Amino acid sequence: ALIVRHRMRSSGRWAKAMAILREFEEKCGTPIGKLRQVADAMTVEMHAGLASEGGSKLKMLISYVDNLPTGDEKGLFYALDLGGTNFRVLRVQLGGKSKGVVKQEFEEVSIPPHLMVGSSDALFDYIAEALAKFVATEGEDSHLSPGRQRELGFTFSFPVKQSSISSGSLIKWTKGFSIEDAVGQDVVGELTKAMERIGLDMRVAALVNDTIGTLAGGRYYDQDVIAAVILGTGTNAAYVERANAIPKWHGLLPKSGEMVINMEWGNFRSSHLPLTEYDHALDVESLNPGEQIFEKILSGMYLGDIVRRVLCRMAEEAAFFGDNVPPKLRIPFILRTPDMSAMHHDTSSDLRVVGSKLKDILEISNTSLKTRKVIVELCDIVATRGARLSAAGIFGILKKLGRDTVRDGDKQKSQIAMDGGLFEHYTKFSSCMESTLKELLGEEVAENIMIEHSNDGSGVGAALLAASHSQYLEIEES
Ligand code: BGC
Ligand code: MG
Repeated sequence: ALIVRHRMRSSGRWAKAMAILREFEEKCGTPIGKLRQVADAMTVEMHAGLASEGGSKLKMLISYVDNLPTGDEKGLFYALDLGGTNFRVLRVQLGGKSKGVVKQEFEEVSIPPHLMVGSSDALFDYIAEALAKFVATEGEDSHLSPGRQRELGFTFSFPVKQSSISSGSLIKWTKGFSIEDAVGQDVVGELTKAMERIGLDMRVAALVNDTIGTLAGGRYYDQDVIAAVILGTGTNAAYVERANAIPKWHGLLPKSGEMVINMEWGNFRSSHLPLTEYDHALDVESLNPGEQIFEKILSGMYLGDIVRRVLCRMAEEAAFFGDNVPPKLRIPFILRTPDMSAMHHDTSSDLRVVGSKLKDILEISNTSLKTRKVIVELCDIVATRGARLSAAGIFGILKKLGRDTVRDGDKQKSQIAMDGGLFEHYTKFSSCMESTLKELLGEEVAENIMIEHSNDGSGVGAALLAASHSQYLEIEES
């Protein structure tokens, strides 16, 4: 009898669950006016970050890339791409003018989770080892000139304060990484030492963020590429800035007059962001509380966990899955964004994908169609907020560049190179992002802005930048 008394009547439960959902939906709202405020705040922070070191949450990091690929790059180069759950090693044969990328080989290696939170040496030893194995597969036909040292473009997808094109210290880890003794270290130094320990003779010619690599890779194929955005495990953007619009840059004015900026927009934060109690809880319990707030509401590492948190509340307070809270629902990150995406894209009439995901991942069985529909709606709320905010971020960059209007009927094209698993695989997310950007730009301007998926462009981009910063360049040119 005691239990009966404490049980909510089923209609009461449902109403309570819906109240939780509706309140969450309301807090996640991104009407167009709010998106414009977010975009404006983004441009304001961009200015502040360019003005002085530490002037903004947006670090606006100087990449030392003042020349983007031209197509003349030639030779055999390696690239290493570290930043998500996998890392990749690549070998790229560049043919120079008109020949382009002649040959490209790569291998993907997953990073054992313990290395993401261990020591710097352990991580870099593992990477150097994998790289050495890959180098050993180099063919006779590889065209590496005799006596020439192998050169590498290192894509390292974390915030780095660069001191040159080929050196820089790690500011902080993001995503799932947390290796304390690496913070503040020169990551090229760390990698080079690890390569020396195993006798791998290779020089890091360029250290780049994945956004910079993607921008370089995009520009190689299309001169209209002016920015790159990553929507993956983490999120970030880079763009080409006028060097004289960077007050904090005290170096020589580059010949090109340009400098590529790594915004580190994942760390953007503004009072205009629609944040909920679930986002606060996720942040507080994360590896990096108070940091990467923009990233935590829109990138692939976190979207699934936001959904889980809301479901958990609905289970606790409205017995959404019956009298007991399904224990698995309490495990952080158990519901991954790819699973959320699969549920969100379920087109079957009985939502059987939703049903099987709930069963396989959360051990929740026998859900009604009505319940499954609510879950799809929840996925939609979370994905829509993230997608619309990423569009606002891009709009902010276009505003900063004055490319948000058509001046004097001028039809200047702007292309944005995009990459990342979220963009590539979460179709509802990407299409919402693109339609929101159109909405922000208006019909006429939108015609001049193109979003191009640059499939793993950052690896090739890093190889291209290694080529243009090769130690042998001077010799070959003379
Ligand atoms: C990192 C960026 C990176 C982005 C996408 C973020 O967490 O801070 O440096 O570009 O993820 O990989
Ligand atoms: Mg990547």
